[in-house]
Amino acid sequence: MDEHLLERFVTYAKVNTRSDMSSQTVPTTDTQVEFALMLAEELKEIGLAEVEYNEANGFVTATLPSNLTHEVPIIGFIAHIDTADFNAENIQPQIHPNYTGNDIVLNEELGIVMTNVEFPQLANYIGQTVITTDGTTLLGADDKAGMASIVTAMEEFIQHPELPHGKIRIAFGPDEEIGRGALLFDVDHFQAEFAYTLDSGRVGKFEYETFNAAQAELTIKGTSVHPGMAKNSMVNALLVAAQFATALPQAEVPEKTEEYEGFYMLSSQVGTIDEVKATYIIRDHDKAVFEERKNHFKALVNQVNQTFDQPRITLKLYDQYYNMRDIIEKDFSIVELALNAYRALGIEPDVKPFRGGTDGSIISHKGLPTPNIFTGAENLHGKYEFVSLEGMKQAAKIVIEIARMTAEK
Ligand SMILES: [Zn+2]
Repeated sequence: MDEHLLERFVTYAKVNTRSDMSSQTVPTTDTQVEFALMLAEELKEIGLAEVEYNEANGFVTATLPSNLTHEVPIIGFIAHIDTADFNAENIQPQIHPNYTGNDIVLNEELGIVMTNVEFPQLANYIGQTVITTDGTTLLGADDKAGMASIVTAMEEFIQHPELPHGKIRIAFGPDEEIGRGALLFDVDHFQAEFAYTLDSGRVGKFEYETFNAAQAELTIKGTSVHPGMAKNSMVNALLVAAQFATALPQAEVPEKTEEYEGFYMLSSQVGTIDEVKATYIIRDHDKAVFEERKNHFKALVNQVNQTFDQPRITLKLYDQYYNMRDIIEKDFSIVELALNAYRALGIEPDVKPFRGGTDGSIISHKGLPTPNIFTGAENLHGKYEFVSLEGMKQAAKIVIEIARMTAEK
């Protein structure tokens, strides 16, 4: 398994599949289409059935037919093709076999070093094969590691027909990092009864709770007049924006919250005296509190507006995704199945509410419960990203174990 997995990961990682928020095409970048078509060829080559590339949503799907004589549920495994908003030109994965625990020089010439002081978790990887960047790009282990582990698990099944498994469906989709890809995922066509994403996180991580998420776009209109004649007529949109920002609960921001605590975050603000555009995100695990937060936000907009001659702030508020727990808790057996697979492989489950969203947040609310399994990747979305071969192998083994346990029933 090792050699194929490493080679497969490096091949995937080298392809630039960065998504692009400003693009309106599906997928948002042509490189993702090229990658998807390359992947489809590979899936056919290793012997998977029903390999399809869907032009409408950019997903590649394939089937591993059951080798059982009895019926078991169809399981899905999902990962994403795109990488985050960080340089992905000319990715050169560096392989460090039998890692010693020392600082890792990513780029000698540029003096870029990943130190074990800044990244103490490197101590967990002593003796392993660690794969890093060359310090100039991200690695894209988020989520090429997930993809490589799923494909390698499918290859293992095909090469070892003695491994029992029901029908397995796999899907690889675009534009996860910009929160769009899964919106177009075709759950009916996928036909799985439940699924797992393999997307980021050190070995042992498991997530079935995510935030509920909304975004608020504010346009603040000022009245710009010459400062010399501004008395009783100027309204400075920049100060209105500040007035609004300071009216929000000051302790409920990401830098002061953790675990189940929700927040409001100002994510961008640009403008002049005449006009300011501000974007906030609103997050909470609890659906009722999430609704309260949105209502509070709207009420504050009204409150600030009332202090002026006319409404100065216009608000566009919309939901982005919801907590997958609300779907998954209807049947916790898929969580237990995965955690039992972890334990069977000697992996201690590390289950915490995820302070973000995954493709599974959207897919679960489309009717296919989809919690998240680790990939072994760490320091995502930047030049210090890394993954170990052993971590990816564990993820592949979890896929095989989940299928085996399901086949037993
Ligand atoms: Zn990811």
